[in-house]
Amino acid sequence: MSDCIFCKIVAGKIPSEKVYEDESLLAFMDIGPVQPGHVLLIPKKHYERFTELPEDLAAALGRKLPALSRAVVAAAKADGFNLFQTNGACSGQVVPHVHIHIIPRHEGDGYSFRWVAGKYAPGELQTWRAKIAAALKA
Ligand code: 5GP
Ligand code: ZN
Repeated sequence: MSDCIFCKIVAGKIPSEKVYEDESLLAFMDIGPVQPGHVLLIPKKHYERFTELPEDLAAALGRKLPALSRAVVAAAKADGFNLFQTNGACSGQVVPHVHIHIIPRHEGDGYSFRWVAGKYAPGELQTWRAKIAAALKA
């Protein structure tokens, strides 16, 4: 995609601080870190949403996450980390090229991903389970 920022980073048209690269993946420093050490892992090929990825590419992303997360945590001397991923503007996706955020976290760092937990009416949880299980089979 010619107007995609991350495709331009892959092509070397926009500079980036790379931490890992192979034939299908690239990891680089996020320019606007939630916390210092914030890394983005992307497929080199352009896909907008995680749901569009071929299984082997999704697997390649998943295979790299433990080692990359360990490296981020070690470098940041972090107490923990968040893996975060957005799909669509409604979810907060700004760059429409699949990316996984790896964000080092420290006790008391002040950042919060907390959400307000909702509550199902009686039977509603089971209805949702059935809907999703059926969609998975379709
Ligand atoms: P999103 O909100 O789409 O999940 O996250 C996009 C991320 O890309 C943001 O955290 C933002 O800081 C990062 N980002 C946007 N433009 C650039 C860029 O040109 N270079 C780098 N390294 N990161 C970028
Ligand atoms: Zn792209």
